[in-house]
Amino acid sequence: MSIPCKPSVASVLLDIGCCALCALRLSGEKDSLVFNKQPQELQAHLEELTSEKSLSITQNVCCSCLGILQEHTADDFIEKISDTIKSTDHEFHNFFCSITLPICVLKREHSIWLTIKDKCPSYEKETDVLQVKDVWKNICMTRLAKKLGVPFQQESPFEISLTFTYEKNNEELSFLTELFPEIFKKRKNNRYGWELFTRANVSKALDSCLESSFKKYSQCPPINPVLKSICDKISCSHLSLYMAGRYNKYSRKLSQTPWLIDGEKKMESSVQEKICDILETYVKSDDLKFSSSGREDVDVRMLGSGRPFAVEFINPKRTSFSSEDMKSLQQMINSACSVVQIRDLQMITKDDTSNLKDGEMEKTKSYSALCWVKDAVTQPTLDNKINGITDLVLNQKTPIRVLHRRPLAVRERTIHSMSAEYLDRHHFKLSLKTQAGTYIKEFVHGDFCRTTPNLGSILESECDILALDVENVQLDWPKRIDSAE
Ligand SMILES: [Zn+2]
Repeated sequence: MSIPCKPSVASVLLDIGCCALCALRLSGEKDSLVFNKQPQELQAHLEELTSEKSLSITQNVCCSCLGILQEHTADDFIEKISDTIKSTDHEFHNFFCSITLPICVLKREHSIWLTIKDKCPSYEKETDVLQVKDVWKNICMTRLAKKLGVPFQQESPFEISLTFTYEKNNEELSFLTELFPEIFKKRKNNRYGWELFTRANVSKALDSCLESSFKKYSQCPPINPVLKSICDKISCSHLSLYMAGRYNKYSRKLSQTPWLIDGEKKMESSVQEKICDILETYVKSDDLKFSSSGREDVDVRMLGSGRPFAVEFINPKRTSFSSEDMKSLQQMINSACSVVQIRDLQMITKDDTSNLKDGEMEKTKSYSALCWVKDAVTQPTLDNKINGITDLVLNQKTPIRVLHRRPLAVRERTIHSMSAEYLDRHHFKLSLKTQAGTYIKEFVHGDFCRTTPNLGSILESECDILALDVENVQLDWPKRIDSAE
C-alpha cells in the first residue's frame, strides 16, 4: 500500500519545507548510499522518485530537522567535533556517539504526519522511519571516525555527546502545558536544574492530543523556522576504570579515608590519599571512589598480607595500563611513604568489584592486641583462663564510640579461637580469630559491661587494650601477583 504513495509523500514533504534528507527519511528511505549522495545527485534522486522535473528543494531551514541535517553534516562541523574531543586529552580506542535533539523536533514530526494523513489519505506510515539522529550518524560517522583515527563501535566505553538546542523550543511546546497541565506538573529535576519538557512527557502529551486540538493550538504543517538549531555542547566521557590491590598500614596515626569534619580535614593524610593521589596523577579522572573489605580504626595497624581495596576512577582520561605500568605505579606508591605499602595492584572490571563486599560477614579476621591487666598475671594464669578457649559467643551492645553512626542493638559474635602470651606481670599479647564484625577493643575492656563476656570478666580483673593490629583479612581477592610474605 505504501509504495504507490511514496512519490506523493516525498512531494508533500518537500512542499512544506523539508530538506532533501528529511523528505527521503520521512518517506521511508533507509539506504545509506542514498543519504550519502552529493546535493545534485540527491536532487536527481528525488526528481526520479517524485517524477517531477526541476524540483525545488528548500534553501531555508528545514521544518523537520531544524537545519541539523543541512548544516551540521558538513566537514567543518565534523572537524570541530574532532578538535573538541582531541583537546580533552582523553585516551580512547573507539567511540560511540549520542545525540540530543531539541524536543520540539518531536512535535514538528507529529505535525508533519498529520499533514501527510490529510494530503495522502491512503498512505500507511512505516513504523521504522529513520530519526534525524540516525541519518546524521549515517552521513557523519565514517568521516568522524576517520578524523578521530579510531573506529565507531556501538558498545564503546567512550561516548561523544552532541547536544543540539533550538531557541524557540519552549515557545513551540508551551501549548501542550496548557492542554495537559497534569502531564507537566511533575518537573524533572536533573543536574542542570528544572526541566519542563522531556522527551517522555512531550511524547505522552502528543499521544493524548486530539487531532483537532493540535491543529487549533499548534500549526499543521509546521511553520517554517526562521532560526536554525545550534550545536550547544560537544562533550565526551569514558566509563569508569577500576583498580584493586591490598594495603598494609604501619601507623597508628593514619585514618583509612580522609577524615572530614564540616569540610575540614582533621588529619594530614589517609591510606586512601597515600594510594590514590599517585594513581590519580596518571589516570586523571573527574573523581574517584575508594572502597575496601572492611576498615580499621585510625590507631589500628593493618599487617599480614594486607587489606583488599578497590578504586573506581570516574571519567578517566588515561585507560590503558600494562602490567608493567601497574608494577611501576605500585613501586611509586611504596617508595613515596613507609607507613602505607601496597601489593597486587591490578586493573579489574566493574563486575570484579562485587567480590569486595560479597561475604563480608562470613569472613574470619585475625587480630593481635597488646593488653593491660590490673591484677598481676603469670603465663600459667593465662594458659588456664584464656588459652584453649574456642567458639566463645559474645553479646555485644553497639559500642558507645560508634553509637552516633550505628543503631543500638545487641549482636552475637563469635571468637573462634584465642591465645595469650605473657609479656610482664601486667601485660600480655592476645591473638584472636574472630567472626567479622566483632568489636575487639570492646571485648578487651568490656565497654562498661556492654560486651559480655569480656576479657575482664574472664580474667576477673580490669583489662584494657593498648594497641591493636589486624593480622589478616581472609579474602581471596584480588588475585595474588606479588609473593605473599
Ligand atoms: Zn531536514
